[in-house]
Amino acid sequence: MHLFFNYDWALEKTVILQYNTRRTMKEKYYITTTLPYVNAEPHIGFALEIVAADMMARFHRDILNEEVIFNTGTDEHGQKIHQKAEEAGADTQVYVDEYAEKFSGLRDLLRIDYTHFIRTTNPEHKKAAQEFWKRCEAKGDIYKKMYKLSYCIGCELEKQSSDLDENGRCPLHPNKDLEIREEENYFFAFSKYQDALLAHYATHPDFVEPESKMKEITAFVARGLKDFSISRLSSKMPWGIPVPGDEEHVMYVWFDALVNYISTLGWPNDTQHFEAYWPGVQLAGKDNLRQQAAMWQAMLASAELPFSKKILINGFISVDGQKMSKSLGNVISPSEMVNRYGSEATRFLLMELGPFGTDMDVTWEKLDTTYTALLSNGIGNVCSRVAKMCEKNGSEFIVNEIEVPQEYSTALSKYDISRAIRIITEYVSDIDLYLSENQPWTKTGDDQTALLQTSVERIRTLAAMLVPVMPGTAQSISDLYTQTHIVALDPLFPRLPK
Ligand SMILES: [Zn+2]
Repeated sequence: MHLFFNYDWALEKTVILQYNTRRTMKEKYYITTTLPYVNAEPHIGFALEIVAADMMARFHRDILNEEVIFNTGTDEHGQKIHQKAEEAGADTQVYVDEYAEKFSGLRDLLRIDYTHFIRTTNPEHKKAAQEFWKRCEAKGDIYKKMYKLSYCIGCELEKQSSDLDENGRCPLHPNKDLEIREEENYFFAFSKYQDALLAHYATHPDFVEPESKMKEITAFVARGLKDFSISRLSSKMPWGIPVPGDEEHVMYVWFDALVNYISTLGWPNDTQHFEAYWPGVQLAGKDNLRQQAAMWQAMLASAELPFSKKILINGFISVDGQKMSKSLGNVISPSEMVNRYGSEATRFLLMELGPFGTDMDVTWEKLDTTYTALLSNGIGNVCSRVAKMCEKNGSEFIVNEIEVPQEYSTALSKYDISRAIRIITEYVSDIDLYLSENQPWTKTGDDQTALLQTSVERIRTLAAMLVPVMPGTAQSISDLYTQTHIVALDPLFPRLPK
């Protein structure tokens, strides 16, 4: 695989475009985050998810040269949102508009290059959700039943007794009282899909990653599935999509929101576009495992659509061993991180936190240490040192074609972001080692130029590897290192204030 790393990115796009007209078909790649509820500011857990998705999208687009759709958006229906809007004395649509704006603001804050931003209050999405409902209904998978439920507004989920903690409360929202409700709702025949789900898991052992989450969801489905309620009375909960043919009910928020993964692709109207990109890769937090890996998959089977390609589950982030919470005053927000480290470094620090899928712990001290060691003294330092030597040497350095190391591409193809980050940092250490072993500063003339030429090529390879994780930094390094005369540069990662 060759990457023509051209440094004028506009030019590079032209090159790739010409290159592609020679190919009959470009590979298609579709990745999506979950849609966060618009009832709070974007938090660091979602920042981690969206940066990971952005990194995968850029890898597929800029390195593998595929045609990429990267979807994110906001989940805007449900009781929790309606209540919050009422508490704020705001019209619900105005309220969700403001929050959607904040989430789309992550684009600038974290340099997220998504192609699609879907809002579940979008009219096209509403029509798609209703069409999806009709297909499941036509399949005989939707029926009406009286029932009594314990409901956690925090999760917007019905809770079985086995889901509750020792005090009979939601473990994720121990401060919220569960609501006991009795009403006539529509149900989805989830139980009908137990065998289909288990068969799919068995034949696709990496359908859910990490492996521990694959095991967890398999065990959950194997225990037996209960049909779940997919509607609410509109008299009690007016903020939702009307059930087709029954104005007294609105769709349960999950049933509506999950359909975004395909409505964003133009389903059901633009079948050709939809089929070109679906199935896709879905990222989600571990509190979303059942909805993504089981409920949504059963819904797809019911509507006679293919299962998702892959579900990537990320862990929770704690601060110094404690759950992040406003009351503890230990919240580390994406915007605070950007204030301290800048957008580029924040992306890198989030991706460096640990293996995707495990729970992670952060502190400002740890983040500072990583920033200083891997960015200021690592990538930043090696790029400055070599540039300074090249300036002093004064030669013209040849811009050869470079390739991203295969092991780096392999790691990202397997969604092993942690390994990809490690490969980058090891590559930096290798350049440092090359410099200290060969000591170009002690050489002169052609000897020195040859050593620097090799160093320049390695730094350009490093820049190519940085494209998915720190696209702006990659470009700065590339811009400098493809000039006819390389000159010393300002620090890429300035020292942190004491
Ligand atoms: Zn809850």
